[in-house]
Amino acid sequence: MTKWVYRFGDGTAEGRAEMKDLLGGKGAGLAEMSNLGLPVPPGFTITTGVCTHFYAHGKSYPAELREQVAEGLAAIERLLGARFGDADNPLLVSVRSGARVSMPGLMDTVLNLGLNDQAVAGLARRSGDERFAYDSHRRFIQMYGQVVLGIENHFEELLENHKLDTGVTLDTDLSAEDWRTIVAGFKDLVAQELGHPFPEEPQEQLWGAIGAVFGSWMNPRAVTYRRLHDIPADWGTAVNVQAMVFGNMGPDCATGVAFTRNPSTGANEFYGEYLVNAQGEDVVAGIRTPQHLTIAGKQASRLALPAMEEVMPEVLAELYQVRRTLEDHYRDMQDIEFTVQRGKLWMLQTRSGKRTAQAALKIAVSLVEEGVIHRDEAVRRIEPASLDQLLHPMLDPTANTTVLTRGLPASPGAASGQVVFSADEAESLAVRGEAVILVRIETSPEDIHGMHAAKGVLTTRGGMTSHAAVVARGMVRPCIAGTGDLRADYAARTMTARNIVMKAGEIITIDGSTGEVMIGAVPTIQPELSGDFATLMDWADAIRGMKVRANAETVVDTSMARRFGAEGIGLSRTEHMFFEADRIGAMRRVIMAEDETGRRAGLAELLPIQREDFAEIFRIMKGFPVTIRLLDPPLHEFLPKTEAEFGEMARLTGKSVGAIRQRAVALHETNPMLGHRGCRLGITYPEIYEMQAAAIFEAAVAVTQEIGKPVAPEIMVPLIATKKEFDILKAIIDRVGRKVLEGAGVSVPYLVGTMIELPRAALRAGEVAETAEFFSFGTNDLTQTVFGLSRDDAASFIGAYQRLGILEHDPFVTLDVAGVGELVRIAAERGRATRPGLKLGICGEHGGDPASIRFCHAVGLDYVSCSPYRVPIARLAAAQAKLSGDLRDGTA
Ligand code: PEP
Ligand code: MG
Repeated sequence: MTKWVYRFGDGTAEGRAEMKDLLGGKGAGLAEMSNLGLPVPPGFTITTGVCTHFYAHGKSYPAELREQVAEGLAAIERLLGARFGDADNPLLVSVRSGARVSMPGLMDTVLNLGLNDQAVAGLARRSGDERFAYDSHRRFIQMYGQVVLGIENHFEELLENHKLDTGVTLDTDLSAEDWRTIVAGFKDLVAQELGHPFPEEPQEQLWGAIGAVFGSWMNPRAVTYRRLHDIPADWGTAVNVQAMVFGNMGPDCATGVAFTRNPSTGANEFYGEYLVNAQGEDVVAGIRTPQHLTIAGKQASRLALPAMEEVMPEVLAELYQVRRTLEDHYRDMQDIEFTVQRGKLWMLQTRSGKRTAQAALKIAVSLVEEGVIHRDEAVRRIEPASLDQLLHPMLDPTANTTVLTRGLPASPGAASGQVVFSADEAESLAVRGEAVILVRIETSPEDIHGMHAAKGVLTTRGGMTSHAAVVARGMVRPCIAGTGDLRADYAARTMTARNIVMKAGEIITIDGSTGEVMIGAVPTIQPELSGDFATLMDWADAIRGMKVRANAETVVDTSMARRFGAEGIGLSRTEHMFFEADRIGAMRRVIMAEDETGRRAGLAELLPIQREDFAEIFRIMKGFPVTIRLLDPPLHEFLPKTEAEFGEMARLTGKSVGAIRQRAVALHETNPMLGHRGCRLGITYPEIYEMQAAAIFEAAVAVTQEIGKPVAPEIMVPLIATKKEFDILKAIIDRVGRKVLEGAGVSVPYLVGTMIELPRAALRAGEVAETAEFFSFGTNDLTQTVFGLSRDDAASFIGAYQRLGILEHDPFVTLDVAGVGELVRIAAERGRATRPGLKLGICGEHGGDPASIRFCHAVGLDYVSCSPYRVPIARLAAAQAKLSGDLRDGTA
């Protein structure tokens, strides 16, 4: 018989932390906390397997489920001595969703389930608080009515009307009798809307709630969230049924959430928020601004409300112990939820805490220093792509800024953009390429698309754990929450603080690391790459086997590549050097020349310019290898396109407009991607490659003498399909090299190799390697030629192909292992069979993609080369590839 239900509570559990796939994150955490002896209200988890079954069988349950749920419920009843629906001592439960990964606030929850006219009397007697009992009853009807019965929220209207009728303004001034009247009103509303009465039978309530939670897995908001976060629909959610504990029974009750370390900075400090006399969801909903756990936290946030350390010191002491127990056990920062009922602490959740990239680095490095985890583990824990957050420009601290207001630094990073007040507006402006900051009083799951479209999010209410804060951190958007003195007026489309009124469309800058909201756009500077970042990178560098190089040809990019730790240049695209204003003229004279003599005259003008370009790269790279690729694009790319440009070029070259137009027509290609380009140009116009080779060798000689150690050029021929093409061009390069080097009396250890970017070249790699001294996989062209698809054309439908399951991922981003990757593997094997030490690298875009880097490691490439900004990502991904490879080999 399949086990569909797992119990927990009272110091034991049937589940464990490792069973997340089956029990969901929440269920696994509750089980593990029970096993650790922490105070967890008893309950049970209905597995994600039931969700899968539910959707596979027309929304019906497995046959054994009813009995297993009944047993689970009976176990809770036995432990607490309470009974479902009992008039004396009623058992109340919460019913909550819990998927493998958290989906903040997107699925349904029902609290206080089990209340009916009988049970409420029991609750009133037991708690000694009638008002609380009837308030709980109306909360239950309201929540169940909305979530399970799908009734629109007219409940609040009824409540407001009752307050008007009785002249009461605050909920807290309503009496037990008032709440009883409101409960009756709520039930009438349900009966009217539904055509039958509100379910009084607790079993019926329970199964209604279970069905609603499973149903919410497919609600549109959850579906959108999963799409944005690549979460498969077949994971399903679990359902947790757990005895209620109450944080809203009076001033000695509370509810809260905490991180065992600061989730923004990673500092080793207990970081949490709580609300006195409140129930679970109130903190996350951002309706009241929560108070801090510690006095230090309170002081740092400049909030006046007392810290838990001041009002409930014993509870806080106990929480500190829980924090130690959980961190010791999980060896990682945890995100916890708790409730205090009449001074007693109850734990409701623990999970690995979401954190910023900066915090992830600090926590990983600190845990190594504290002796809790090994360096390898620290390296494994950082998501390579997340480093991107740290590599981009940050606000210039010396800039003059005008601070409009301050709030809580809820998600780090800085962003500037136009103020918008709705998610839809954010989305429509972002589509037009505008940068926007979404300003809301608070956010809800309906705002997700706008938060995604915005560069940053600002809310006037809510705390560090509000919906806006949690979602923004997940999306890596800067966010400031709870800017108390800022008023947002949706109708007037303005926001006001300190008597300054800002309208929709005006520019602000937010700094999610400091909480400052500034008027106008603030200038940015390059980030500092020291501290924990440098430490973790050093560890990664010590682990990895593959080298990491960068694709760069300008001084700016080459210098940046070095700063980010590139160990050479894997691709310098020389054609980029011809497009600049001072060179394009000479290049055009080459193209317009009648004969070889004319071409050589134009090339002679280009030679010194190219030589200086290469010399600059060699200087910056100080002896690291530099792969320079000879001219690749078809010549028409260098010609003008419009009549006006034809005229301008005619003036500059002394040719007629007609002659230029004629040449442009002659060079026009139907499919330039597959045309007269790459080494084919070198074969047709050898003088072009001769000039480039001379420029490379002359620059190498000059810089070798200048820096006193040899530079290492690797000269690369693009787009070969046959060995013969390569051999002809290699002979030219070697001849030019001999002449320059012998003339100068300097020795430069250079290599001549080829791109492998056509399927034929990959398949004939065995013979190509007889003469080629290195291969660099050009997986951009290889993907284009394998799929018969140009990258630009692909953009319009690759997304649809992924949704249809035709492609698992975009092959232009992640190597298609079974196609393009297979050719890379074949070429590597055949090449090395001929020439065992053959140097192998990759310079297509895939060289910066962590999954592709793992593949490159497995195939045995010597290096990957990627854009400068991705170099640190590649360094970390290469280390992780080595670690997982070692695990597979059993060498670690
Ligand atoms: C490639 O084809 O992968 C490559 C690096 O060359 P380019 O992108 O310049 O065609
Ligand atoms: Mg290419």
